[in-house]
Amino acid sequence: MTFTTRFAPSPTGPLHLGHAYSALVAHDMARASGGRFLLRIEDTDIDRARAHWEEQIYEDLRWLGLDWESPVLRQSEHLAEYNATLMQLAERGLVYPCSCRRSDIRAALSAPQEGQPRGPGVYPGTCRDRPMSSRQPGDALRLNMERSVAGISMPVFNETGPKHVGRQQLDAALLIRDIGDAVLGRKEIETVSYVLASVIDDASQGITHVVRGEDLYQITFLQVLLQRLLDLPTPVYHHHRLIRDDAGKRLAKRDDARAIAGYRAEGASPQDIRTMVGLKPIPSSF
Ligand code: GLU
Repeated sequence: MTFTTRFAPSPTGPLHLGHAYSALVAHDMARASGGRFLLRIEDTDIDRARAHWEEQIYEDLRWLGLDWESPVLRQSEHLAEYNATLMQLAERGLVYPCSCRRSDIRAALSAPQEGQPRGPGVYPGTCRDRPMSSRQPGDALRLNMERSVAGISMPVFNETGPKHVGRQQLDAALLIRDIGDAVLGRKEIETVSYVLASVIDDASQGITHVVRGEDLYQITFLQVLLQRLLDLPTPVYHHHRLIRDDAGKRLAKRDDARAIAGYRAEGASPQDIRTMVGLKPIPSSF
């Protein structure tokens, strides 16, 4: 199978050094194995995605020396497909509507807990018994984790990243405790969460290797479970280290000071960016 990977930014702000590192690592891995590199625009967050950020992504990546296959998949053009998959899960009784706001969840979490132990911030299950027929505009849709893990054999995935190398086994009790009833359908009708859209696209685009930051390591367990529930293939995962600021904090979109566009404007070269993120110069044969 041809090594196929992707870089999947959300156009909600400028690309910074952390994005550059992620895109370059994926691109280098694809080139080194004679594989394919795809770009996917994850623009399902209609409140925050902007056309000008998307344009800037293309410009910055081209400037960095990356090339990718056309056409680029833009998730906003596939909402009906994602929603149809979500409805399949709903028909199987694996999804329920939830009207809880953040403040409701906080209040429920601060009350004494009963039943199964839950990790910090994991949804307490307030709406779990609601049928799909009670869905109101503005309700999110959540995965019923306990039901989803019941009666299936737990999948494994292979990890090649520096921190968690090797075969990783999912564990039903840990999925319930640490991930719980994740939101799959957002409160805006017909908008699914990135977690599900990305699983559907990784399969439809034939992604064999997902290369991304280690901040998404835990999400992988949820995504591998979704692949099992939807009968989709599980790629190999490579969670790379994160690029941090001088204080050791992970870079975020708001860290405009580290935006690639800013470095470009100051006269940095693509090679300088590679050096800044600790990558070797591009071999001349590329
Ligand atoms: N759109 C996601 C992000 O920007 C991509 C995560 C992934 O590569 O799966 O964080």
